[in-house]
Amino acid sequence: MVIKDTVAIAPRSPMERSTTFSSPPQTCYNIIYELNATAVKTPRPRIIFITPVRIDTLVYCTSVFNCGVFGLFDNSTYPIGPVSNLDAQVNITYSEGANASGTVVSYPTVEIRPTTTHRFDVKTLEVILHYDPVYYVPADIVFGYIHFRVAPVTPPTISITFPSEDTTIVVSDTYLPTMILQERHTPPDAVVTWRPSNIISAAEYMTSASAETTVTVTATATRPCGGEQTATRRVTFKKNLVDHFEITCEQDTVAFTESAKIFVQAKDVNNQNIELAADKLVTFTVTTNAEYGTFIDQDGDTLKTTPVKLEHIPYADAKAGEIQFAAVKKNPVDPVLCNVKAELESDPSKAGEARIPVVEQTLKIVMEPPREVRPSIPTEDADTNMTKLRKKTFEVQMTRNKAAVPNHPFRLWTNYVEQTGGHDHGDTRTVRQTDNNDNYGYFVAEGKSEHRRPLDDVTNANGKFEVTYNASIFGDSMRIYLQSRDPQKAKFFKDSVTVVEKVEGLINFRNVVSNGRWTFAQSATGATRHADNNWCSQSMSNNLQKAIRKFYNWSMDTLESPFVLSLNDMSLIFGGRFDVSGKWDSRNSQAHLYHRKGTSVDINDPSNRIKIDDGSRYGKWTAIGIKLKNIFDDYGLSPENERPVHFELRY
Ligand SMILES: [Zn+2]
Ligand SMILES: [Zn+2]
Repeated sequence: MVIKDTVAIAPRSPMERSTTFSSPPQTCYNIIYELNATAVKTPRPRIIFITPVRIDTLVYCTSVFNCGVFGLFDNSTYPIGPVSNLDAQVNITYSEGANASGTVVSYPTVEIRPTTTHRFDVKTLEVILHYDPVYYVPADIVFGYIHFRVAPVTPPTISITFPSEDTTIVVSDTYLPTMILQERHTPPDAVVTWRPSNIISAAEYMTSASAETTVTVTATATRPCGGEQTATRRVTFKKNLVDHFEITCEQDTVAFTESAKIFVQAKDVNNQNIELAADKLVTFTVTTNAEYGTFIDQDGDTLKTTPVKLEHIPYADAKAGEIQFAAVKKNPVDPVLCNVKAELESDPSKAGEARIPVVEQTLKIVMEPPREVRPSIPTEDADTNMTKLRKKTFEVQMTRNKAAVPNHPFRLWTNYVEQTGGHDHGDTRTVRQTDNNDNYGYFVAEGKSEHRRPLDDVTNANGKFEVTYNASIFGDSMRIYLQSRDPQKAKFFKDSVTVVEKVEGLINFRNVVSNGRWTFAQSATGATRHADNNWCSQSMSNNLQKAIRKFYNWSMDTLESPFVLSLNDMSLIFGGRFDVSGKWDSRNSQAHLYHRKGTSVDINDPSNRIKIDDGSRYGKWTAIGIKLKNIFDDYGLSPENERPVHFELRY
């Protein structure tokens, strides 16, 4: 053991010091007081450094309390040496408010852990410094420094969060201490470089990692002045891997003429939504019942190709519903399922399908057979049994998936079917009396009386509209047209039916065997306009045959040679107005007034053997003509005032 000399150092000045904490210390806190004393030699070989140090009101000092002497200096500031090398001893007497007091003797530093947050006083501080007189010369004046270190006793708390909806790991600590991150990888070959922070970006990490990697994140928080906490959490990173698409349609059903947005969502293997780059390209196809559906692209263009395939659609557009499914091709009777498929062009195995029900939507004419009316014939106007035959009641009906569609606007109109009813009109075909109800027939809505053509209205609450078609004056085929007045739908919603306007039961008198008793003749003009001009009722046929036979027989007996009658116009195939002009003569025109219902016959008289021209309007009957009249009269056939000769069946 080294022989040591001892000196005593007397306090040179009062050691009153005060430090107040107004809030709990957040971290290590140092208090350094300078001590200034005179060395005093004592009888025993030591240096005694005694001073009362008062540290006032150390509020919140629930902490480790370190005290130590770190150096001694003489008055020339020449360092004697650190305390540790000087074999120093520190003795502290303290009081801790009224709660505790005591003496701590330590060597060479003292640690006190106060139990309260109250005032803490150091009553005496004694530093005993042993030294070796061989190496050290005691100084008269000794400077000392005393260092109190206050540190929070609460250890750091630490948490690692990895919200499932996020891709970022956040490690946090109560007091933001220095963080040390450790890591382990599964699989182990993943290469990860943590950023120098306590926030770990999964996206950054995954650029080099495999599809799915589980990492054990260990975060340790330590404080230089004491306390340590460690937290560990397993975190699974997943790359944004599309497993399939989910396709949804904004409508449960898409009816004919309708379109509906379709939405494509990328899904992972667990059917969770995942992100997919906006510019990834998707192809849409209709794989079943493609004759019923197609697509409208993001520019609003309707795809018209077959197969129905829409390519190079950016995923962002597909996801946002920019592509529409359009049921604009064919109207199904019963619902059909169109299978819509979307696939990733860079990897067609990533795909999805949806079955979209396409249902009917129909605007139609519901008309029971027979679809026939009798032409409007003026001589029958007062006969309700006959006028009834001019009318055909039917319904306009609008349905969507078999259910009523009310308030749908529509138009009804008619048009003559060219060259029907025997109206060849070879030299006058373009002539048409437009907007003439006599010409085209007209509509009367249920409960109304106005004659309308066209008729514009809307379907009622039951999706229907009852209306009656009233015949024109002509015998022919009339087409009744129905069309939606919705501009977007008009080209899809339309219907038409043909109504035959005819006098029932007419037969072709040309098919009756004449046995040479009559012939047929008409002018070239007549043949051009109405070549098929010898139709009549059965009773007309019967009576006319009998009358002609009797006249023929009479002529054989009486005249030098038999009088073979030359027949001209009777009726057209369906009866109705016989417009010799070929210009759709109006209802009340006197020209060729008869010939509408198969009870008329004109007889040619080119040699004036039946009538002679005496200047009167209809000519004068000859003797033969009078005989003809009398014979015809026996069979109900009366002459009418017409040139040259016209007979009309009276019944
Ligand atoms: Zn005609
Ligand atoms: Zn006539």
